[in-house]
Amino acid sequence: MDHLIHLVDFKRQWEATHLQFQAAFERVGRSGWLILGQEVAAFERGLAAALGLPHAVGVANGTDALELSLRALGGRPGDVYLTTPLTAFATTLAILRAGGQPRFVDVDASGNLDLEQAARHLEGPGPRPRFLVPVHMFGHAMDLDRLEHFTRAHDLLLVEDCAHAIGARSRGRPVGTVGGACAISFYPTKNLGAMGDGGAVLTRDQGVADQVRCMRDYGQTSKYLHERLGLNSRLDEVQAALLSVQLSLLAEHNRRRVELATKLLAGLSSPRVRPVPIPAGSESVWHLFPVLVEGNREAFREHLHAQGVASGLHYPHLVSEQRALADAGLSMPGGDWPMARRFTTQEVSLPLHPYLRDDEAQQVIDACNSWSG
Ligand SMILES: *Cc1c(COP(=O)(O)O)cnc(C)c1O
Repeated sequence: MDHLIHLVDFKRQWEATHLQFQAAFERVGRSGWLILGQEVAAFERGLAAALGLPHAVGVANGTDALELSLRALGGRPGDVYLTTPLTAFATTLAILRAGGQPRFVDVDASGNLDLEQAARHLEGPGPRPRFLVPVHMFGHAMDLDRLEHFTRAHDLLLVEDCAHAIGARSRGRPVGTVGGACAISFYPTKNLGAMGDGGAVLTRDQGVADQVRCMRDYGQTSKYLHERLGLNSRLDEVQAALLSVQLSLLAEHNRRRVELATKLLAGLSSPRVRPVPIPAGSESVWHLFPVLVEGNREAFREHLHAQGVASGLHYPHLVSEQRALADAGLSMPGGDWPMARRFTTQEVSLPLHPYLRDDEAQQVIDACNSWSG
C-alpha cells in the first residue's frame, strides 16, 4: 500500500506544528527550569479555563490522573467501584492501585456505562459501592443531567474518565464538571496529545486539587516535608510547553473532527456497517469514529486495508476478563455484560483525525460502502 490512511497521523501533525513546537522547546531550554515551573502552571491555567473548571493539575499520565483523583476524593482500600468493562485497562488499573475493587457494569447501545444496570448493582449482595467511574466513550458525552441525578440519588462519589472526551459537552455542560474530579490523558493519540506521556486532574474543589498537587510530587507539602504517600507523577515543563501549543489548536481540531464525523455519518450507507449511536444530548468531539460491523469483522478490516484505509478496535477484550485480574484473584465469575461483549466482537474504529483531508474521508466512506461482506 503506497498510501495508507492512518487512524492518527503524527507526521502530518509535525509538519503542521513543528515551528511552534520548536519555539516552545527553545523557551523551556532557555528558562533553565525543567520540572514544575512556569510552563506547567501556565498550561494548567489554560486547560482549566478551556474545560470550564477552576483547577487543573498536570500529572505524568492519564492512569495516574485517575488514581490520584480517586485517592484525593477519599478512596480507601477495600472500597467498591462501579465501572465499565469496555475501556482502556488503565481505568481499572487505577482503581486497583487506589486499593479498590472494581465491579463491572454493562454498557448501553452507545458503549457507555448503563446507569439502569448500575442501579441493579447497588441493590445486590456484598459491600455497597462508594464510587462510580464511568468513561465518556469515543469522544461523546454521557448524559450529564442523568449522571448527576444518579450519583446524588445513590450517594456515590463520581470520577469521570474523560480521556476520550476532552472538550465534549452534554447539552452545553462540559464533561468532567459533574464529578468530584475528572481525569484526562495526553497520550499522543488523544484529542489533546503530548509528544510522550502526560495527564491531568480537573476539579471544582480546591481541596481535591491541593491533594493531587501534593501527591504528584512524592506527597510533599513543602520541600522534604511529606504529608501523605504520593507518587512521582509530575508533568514535565517540556511536555507542558508543547501541550500549550496543542491546547491553542484544540477548539479548531475538535471542530474539524465534528465536520469529518458529520461527513462520515452522511456518507455511510451499508446496513452492515452502522455507526455507534450517540448518547442523548451529546456535543461530541469524536476521539474515535466507531462502527458496528455485521459479518466477518476481520474480512471487513482486510477489505478496508486493501482500499488504503487503516482501522482500529476499541476494545477487543473486556477488562473484566483480562488475565491480570484473574492473577490478582479478581476474576469476575458469572459476569455477563452482553452489550459490552458485542462491542468486543463487532466494533471497528475508522480513521478520523484533524489532519484527515476531505478526499480521504470520502475514501473511507467508499471503502465501507463497497464492502459486500
Ligand atoms: C488513554 C486512556 C487512559 C489512560 O491514559 P494514559 O495516559 O495512557 O495513562 C485511561 N482511560 C481511557 C478511557 C483512555 O483512553
